[in-house]
Amino acid sequence: MARIVQKFGGTSVGDVERIKNVALKVKAEVDRGNEVAVVLSAMAGETNRLVDLVGQMGKLYDAREYDVVVATGEQVTVGLLALALQDLGISARSWLGWQIPVQTDDVHGKARIENIDAAELDRRMKLGEVPVVAGFQGLGEKNRITTLGRGGSDTSAVALAAALGADRCDIYTDVDGVYTSDPRIVTKARKLDKITYEEMLEMASLGAKVLQTRAVEMAMKYGQRLQVLSSFEDKPGTLVVDEDEIVEQEIVSGIAYSRDEAKITLVRVSDKPGVAAAIFGPLADANVNVDMIVQNESVGGNATDLTFTVARDDLNRAVATIEKLNTVIGYAKLLSDPNVVKISVVGVGMRSHAGVAQRMFAALAEKGINIQVISTSEIKVSVLIDEQYTELALRALHTAYGLDAA
Ligand code: ASP
Ligand code: MG
Repeated sequence: MARIVQKFGGTSVGDVERIKNVALKVKAEVDRGNEVAVVLSAMAGETNRLVDLVGQMGKLYDAREYDVVVATGEQVTVGLLALALQDLGISARSWLGWQIPVQTDDVHGKARIENIDAAELDRRMKLGEVPVVAGFQGLGEKNRITTLGRGGSDTSAVALAAALGADRCDIYTDVDGVYTSDPRIVTKARKLDKITYEEMLEMASLGAKVLQTRAVEMAMKYGQRLQVLSSFEDKPGTLVVDEDEIVEQEIVSGIAYSRDEAKITLVRVSDKPGVAAAIFGPLADANVNVDMIVQNESVGGNATDLTFTVARDDLNRAVATIEKLNTVIGYAKLLSDPNVVKISVVGVGMRSHAGVAQRMFAALAEKGINIQVISTSEIKVSVLIDEQYTELALRALHTAYGLDAA
């Protein structure tokens, strides 16, 4: 007997028929003799609809009331699934975040889970009851409903799995696993049987949309075994596991891309102490996240160019912030370009192999693709290139690292 948390995303519970299909998946797990808890998203499109309603009340809304409204999508699906399960003869009941409670901090709209008291759920599961838990929501310190940020029900599921000491957390979604690259672009992309937490974390934060980044962080922290699989097909998905569970480690496991980037260049900034702090401090204060940065030392001169990237949504705010600073920092020109893409190769195997970055640069050079910015970490190499070469670059790199399906 195993204890399993099953999480179903918005498309998996998109309508009544699909919710009945989910009930069958839960029943199959119960029939295998397992203890099961379920975490659900709202029906596909529902959270967007609710967010839009809030927006119609005015631009500067109270985030606490935003949470009250957008948390309702999950209340509908958990109630409906509990009914569908009861219809199949399974003892089941719904749970909202506050009823458990899923305790969070008070950062409304983007709250973090602090604690889950799983004692009552644990007791009922041992008696054969299936808890159906609303994802994405919790209870803040001031006794108000919170939500965990978009895509947050993945995090709810992992947190609940950890609190329940589950053997596995299965994330059912509309794709059948984690791929070496986006299969809609790279037709030779392969599904991975296993991927490490660290690689998954990079892939998620670098643009792969399968799992919320925080969910992966949490799984890694608690060593929670995770599986990503399809709710529409009956086959194993991708296991997200600890590094030593992977015997044959590839040097590069995947190639991710993010179009959510924009580039800013300050031409001829003075090259003296304090300038970077004078630029990036105010950007941080304006809540602009800076990602890649390159700066050259000026040889013999007193000015240099500084290039960095920000999220595309933040570009206007970043430019406005810097323009206000011109009298303080002094630069000749500010250039901005939203038509860029960040492409990253990811793999824990590159820790012990030389030449990984070089292979990337050579493959891009061969296609005549210019690299604008480079950044690296222990397990990834990222480059910024012109957006129009996204597809070409992804396919070329996929081939260059030997990832193509046979
Ligand atoms: N329903 C929420 C959203 O759409 C949470 C989730 O689906 O993970 O963001
Ligand atoms: Mg999701």
